[in-house]
Amino acid sequence: MVREPLRHVTVVGASVAGLAAAQGLRRRGFEGAITLFGDEPEAAYQRPALSKHFLTAHSIRPADIRLQVDPADVRVELGVRATGLDLARRRLQLRDNTSGRQYVHSVDGLVIATGAGARRLPMDTPPGVHVLRTVADAVAFREDLRHKPRVAIVGAGFVGSEVASSCRSLGLDVTVIEAMAAPMARALGPDVGAALAALHRDHGTRLKLGIGVAGFTGRDRVTGVRLADGEIVAADVVVVGIGARPATDWLSGSGLPLDDGVVCGPDLAVAERIVAAGDVARWPHHRDGALVRVEHWDNAIRQAEAAAATLLAPDGMAAAFADTTMFWSDQYGCKLHLVGHPRPDDEISVVEGDLEQRRGVVVYRRAGRMTAALLLSAPNRLRTYRQAVAAADAATAEHSRYQPGRNNPRETVIERSPTAQGV
Ligand SMILES: Cc1cc2nc3c(=O)[nH]c(=O)nc-3n(C[C@H](O)[C@H](O)[C@H](O)COP(=O)(O)OP(=O)(O)OC[C@H]3O[C@@H](n4cnc5c(N)ncnc54)[C@H](O)[C@@H]3O)c2cc1C
Repeated sequence: MVREPLRHVTVVGASVAGLAAAQGLRRRGFEGAITLFGDEPEAAYQRPALSKHFLTAHSIRPADIRLQVDPADVRVELGVRATGLDLARRRLQLRDNTSGRQYVHSVDGLVIATGAGARRLPMDTPPGVHVLRTVADAVAFREDLRHKPRVAIVGAGFVGSEVASSCRSLGLDVTVIEAMAAPMARALGPDVGAALAALHRDHGTRLKLGIGVAGFTGRDRVTGVRLADGEIVAADVVVVGIGARPATDWLSGSGLPLDDGVVCGPDLAVAERIVAAGDVARWPHHRDGALVRVEHWDNAIRQAEAAAATLLAPDGMAAAFADTTMFWSDQYGCKLHLVGHPRPDDEISVVEGDLEQRRGVVVYRRAGRMTAALLLSAPNRLRTYRQAVAAADAATAEHSRYQPGRNNPRETVIERSPTAQGV
């Protein structure tokens, strides 16, 4: 059967993945209409800036961190939330956040790029307890920093660690509370975590490690964080940085496969003419087919490009997404670059420099093969290690005979009913 040509692509989520997808479509010569819907009222911005220089300089306005991506001839509707998807009739349900007006929009091609939202603690929080995901969150938190508060940060992942670093650069009193034994240990393993703990301490940040949060003190305004052992960490401002949840609530009941994200095939296709990209997408990694979801800027851009290519590819001709992606983080003047996907139990070896000095390269290996490389203040080594990890991924795929396209989870999951998927 000959398919109708793709005439119109709708993109839900107007941040980096959404814009990069629109740009990718135009770059590949797509001449049909593109409409982008975004929940936030602002034009897309550099989200990574929110925990870094945007926090430390009141002179930086939201407009100054605007994303300079401007794909040609795209209709952008901001402050509009997608509330549902009727897959059979290919209709998107929308709500205008300002007027409350609800309406529907017909869908031909669809890019799901709704990213993730900040995870919150399962308890009531008094005023002065923040999360940090949007520019509105960052403006509110930054405003509180004017009063030179004592800051407590719940969670020593990359956002919590960067906020600690930014607050210390302002000379503030900072305590980080982390349930794991070391910062970023879940992603980078205990040895690197220990080195990062030392980095915090060397810069005057207090760490409370291996302990959970039981609640907060203060009613009209937070006065402290109550730890699981009863200790209270005094604080005038708190940031909760305990990770993010993929923004898939609007797809509940749509019949699309949802499981910690939108489950895609290796080519990022989710269903007929529907693709996903960025923080929301979970796909079988080209190394071994394991389902992964990645919350990194570089991954969002590369996946959006690949998802655009998939939408435009003739039937059965879409290529698997097989890029080796990179993540960076800035902490106390130390630049971290992570290439690839380590697991906490991977073997690590310091192949250049010195972990204690937080300078050099740490390589992660599983079953003797490189899975990832962490560069500490070694940006000039990025290209080399990206190539090395990419080569190891390809060799592992070859060895395990993993072939993207076979064992495609989309094919097995999409047939299930929405209730069976637990959505
Ligand atoms: C504080 C902070 C610092 C970071 N620093 C780094 C860093 O240093 N390095 C790095 O690699 N990564 C960093 N990241 C992660 C990086 O920002 C994300 O990986 C990237 O933004 C993902 O892009 P995305 O377009 O997939 O999703 P998002 O940027 O989350 O955008 C999704 C968009 O979709 C919108 N949306 C959601 N639901 C709906 C709906 N139902 N209808 C319409 N619109 C909707 C959202 O409002 C949002 O605007 C950081 C993230 C944060 C929060």
